[in-house]
Amino acid sequence: MGKLFVVPTPIGNLKDVTLRALEVLREVDAVACEDTRQTLKLLNHYGIKPKKLISYYAPKEEEKVPTIVGLLKEGKSVALVSDAGTPGISDPGYRLIRRCVEEGIPIEVLPGPSAVITALVGSGLPTDRFVFLGFPPKKGLKDFFKPFAGLETTFVLYESPHRLLKTLEVIKEVFGNPPTVVAKELTKLHEEFVRGETTDEVVEYFRRNPDRLRGEFVVVFRPSGKTAKKDLDLKEEVEALVREGLPAKEVYKRLRERYGDAVRRREVYRLYEELKGSRGGK
Ligand code: SAM
Repeated sequence: MGKLFVVPTPIGNLKDVTLRALEVLREVDAVACEDTRQTLKLLNHYGIKPKKLISYYAPKEEEKVPTIVGLLKEGKSVALVSDAGTPGISDPGYRLIRRCVEEGIPIEVLPGPSAVITALVGSGLPTDRFVFLGFPPKKGLKDFFKPFAGLETTFVLYESPHRLLKTLEVIKEVFGNPPTVVAKELTKLHEEFVRGETTDEVVEYFRRNPDRLRGEFVVVFRPSGKTAKKDLDLKEEVEALVREGLPAKEVYKRLRERYGDAVRRREVYRLYEELKGSRGGK
């Protein structure tokens, strides 16, 4: 039986590759990679001539697993890499690794670069615990975030430049405008950490500097679970009563009956106006 080596590669700076990663890439019988051109750039840089390259990329993952597992069963060693960072982290890898686990094929994971850890540690936000959300879905962002709103933990997610501002707006709404950091172009020439006491501050920065909305981004934020949950709950309650067609006065009265002093007239009216506005007065 061969062995599968999971090999992280640099996320920008080619020097961020470990000695062991180079040794494995030099010695294995085959390298499974996403984009062969991307991997060859790294291998050429270090003078490594791979014995065999197999492409293993997102839409073809399932299809390619038997070929790679076949090689491993023949006693060959295979290194799995992605275009950048750690395979399996918002990159192909999981399916092959799971199959190896099921088939009893030995696996060795090398530690190495990953944007999630680099951004989290550099953010300056608490690192005691964190939730990695990967790439959030393109649709239904608010519903995707809602179940996490009550948690007091640091969140990390990947986002593309053209969706960044929209995602930040939804984070602001669902998590109550928490301390937020956007880590950009990590380990590269234009690396930057944009730090805000609130999400708004970061949004403001990118609105003032639209030329900075280019490159690769990681978003890190740390809500205070309790505030976020309370704000979200109140908005949901007002929304439900607006949907019933109740006037503002009645909405406030009902919520006051339910929650007493915790409900402020001004806050309910503000949410009411906001929701009526977004429903086009319907
Ligand atoms: N497997 C990779 C890892 O371990 O970080 C992630 C691959 S995922 C397809 C690519 C996303 O990771 C980018 O869109 C960006 O959100 C984030 N990312 C990767 N490299 C980055 C960098 N140098 N700076 C900031 N974000 C980066």
